[in-house]
Amino acid sequence: MSHTEPTDAYPEPMAFGRRGGAVGRRPSLTRLLGDGSRSVSFEFFPPKDADAEDVLWGALFQLEELDPSFVSITYGAGGTTRDRTVDITSSIQRRTTLTTIAHLTCVGSSRDELHDVIDEYAAAGIENVLALRGDPAGGLGTAWVAHADGLNHAVELVELLRERGGFCVGVAAFPNGHPESTSLDQDARVLADKQRAGAEFAITQFFFRSADWFRLRDRAAAAGCDMPIIPGIMPLTSVTQIERFARLSGVEFPAEVAARFEGIEDDPVAVRERGVEIATELCAELLEGGAPGLHFYTLNRSTATREVYRNLMSNPHLIRH
Ligand SMILES: Cc1cc2nc3c(=O)[nH]c(=O)nc-3n(C[C@H](O)[C@H](O)[C@H](O)COP(=O)(O)OP(=O)(O)OC[C@H]3O[C@@H](n4cnc5c(N)ncnc54)[C@H](O)[C@@H]3O)c2cc1C
Repeated sequence: MSHTEPTDAYPEPMAFGRRGGAVGRRPSLTRLLGDGSRSVSFEFFPPKDADAEDVLWGALFQLEELDPSFVSITYGAGGTTRDRTVDITSSIQRRTTLTTIAHLTCVGSSRDELHDVIDEYAAAGIENVLALRGDPAGGLGTAWVAHADGLNHAVELVELLRERGGFCVGVAAFPNGHPESTSLDQDARVLADKQRAGAEFAITQFFFRSADWFRLRDRAAAAGCDMPIIPGIMPLTSVTQIERFARLSGVEFPAEVAARFEGIEDDPVAVRERGVEIATELCAELLEGGAPGLHFYTLNRSTATREVYRNLMSNPHLIRH
């Protein structure tokens, strides 16, 4: 797929995201995901300081113009961003027209503490939560230890949120397999269990081969899971950064993708362009193959995501049913 130079002009959203007509209203996520249109969404993390917050708002306002289905805000490892996640998610609700999802993990929290955060989310008007277990406090590769009065698996957090009521609940899924799982079939069964517990959609870890998402979708369907599984896309803008993220997340960085950066590693502009091209190809294959939407890991920046989005919009057949 050819790559055109970035411009500031982006086409009007059509049959993608909130279908271009919902600005000014905040439709329910359950309805958005259930109406058969393809979602487009963006993930952000809570900023650490005032400068980082400016960068985040800049990205948010630029991406808001694309009329996404929703934006999601992460919950820092070990629950370290609890207050910032609540604050930034409720600020986005107040200052924009965006539908928000707040992430929540079980790490280091008792049931009562989780109830408190859920109450804070409800009080802030947050209606959508991504229910996660979280990584072990010692990092990937160390043993998971639940809080003595806490939860052991994300499925229990889905149950807690559904018992509380009033939330549309999403969960995580893993095209390359969760690092602690013994098999891809185990992952598929876990996903089906989460749906039975009340989850309405899943968002995947980032990955680089469309075949990995198709395999997950088919295994999940065979296990009885038919909720939307939205592919998570990380546009590559720096090879070393992505290799590090992939290592930290237990994601495979395929040799054929790495090979496409050979010879241009020292040219940041060329790396960016190649990264956008690769992400565009991945998104196009996924949409062609029936993916229910795309969730972009923005790293709190908008440019690469907007370029991928613009490339997709120039192929309208991809984004219509
Ligand atoms: C879209 C997305 C967003 C994320 N956002 C955040 C975030 O904001 N903050 C953060 O800290 N982390 C985040 N993560 C990382 C996530 O918390 C980790 O990947 C974590 O290791 C797994 O979380 P989970 O919700 O899938 O856990 P679980 O569903 O509990 O699965 C964890 C492991 O336990 C196994 N398992 C699950 N249920 C059972 C059961 N009943 N019996 C036996 N085994 C079981 C699973 O197969 C898997 O191997 C995110 C991941 C994704 C994909």
